Amino acid sequence: MINIASRLQAVQGRIRTAAQAARRRPEEVRLIAVSKTFPAQVIREAHLVGQDAFGENYLQDARSKIEALRDLGLEWHFLGPIQSNKTRLIGECFSWVHSVDNLKHATRLSDARPRELPPLQICIQVNVSAEVTKSGCDPDQLGDLATAVYSHRGLRLRGLMAIPAPSDDVDAQRRSFARLRHMKEELVNKGLELDTLSMGMSADLEAAISEGSTMVRVGRAIFGPRQVK
Ligand SMILES: *Cc1c(COP(=O)(O)O)cnc(C)c1O
Repeated sequence: MINIASRLQAVQGRIRTAAQAARRRPEEVRLIAVSKTFPAQVIREAHLVGQDAFGENYLQDARSKIEALRDLGLEWHFLGPIQSNKTRLIGECFSWVHSVDNLKHATRLSDARPRELPPLQICIQVNVSAEVTKSGCDPDQLGDLATAVYSHRGLRLRGLMAIPAPSDDVDAQRRSFARLRHMKEELVNKGLELDTLSMGMSADLEAAISEGSTMVRVGRAIFGPRQVK
């Protein structure tokens, strides 16, 4: 049996320590608990000790949990690869999507967003480690994509997300996160009002916070190891 409450506390402690080391206020960093592959009951446990934002990657798995936990009023963040035929459900079920990397998906999400709900909060995923992954938009295309997403009425562009190549070298981790921070600053200088850097996971949240992360997405450090799907 894993003890969610104590693991959650430990992660909050890591966030606090990292923020203080970077001379930032810990409240500037939101914790998204990544509950993919874990059952609704475990999410309930985390909610009991105050966690209210959860991240999911797999739509089918997420939908049943969102339905089962509707009474809790949780905030749901979609983090996984987007498929065109899933945009309607993503647009209806989630408050945030962190993994938008092309205009076609952005447009479909905007069209799918029910008008009675507030705009879907969006982070554009940027590919900062092109050698290891294909997801995320090319940094060269970010400016055009961000400007286009910014104008969609069903969406509210909040910032950028990245998943850098895993590395044990904290300086290498920091360099990747700093690149994302600079890209966001460039967009802000062009007049886009962005306030979010979604970066940092179980293994590298300290480096991300020292480079300005405002949302860390943490799974294993809270819920334990995942079964491989
Ligand atoms: C799974 C996942 C996480 C959480 O990763 P951990 O290593 O379990 O903390 C964060 N972000 C995304 C996009 C993920 O897919």
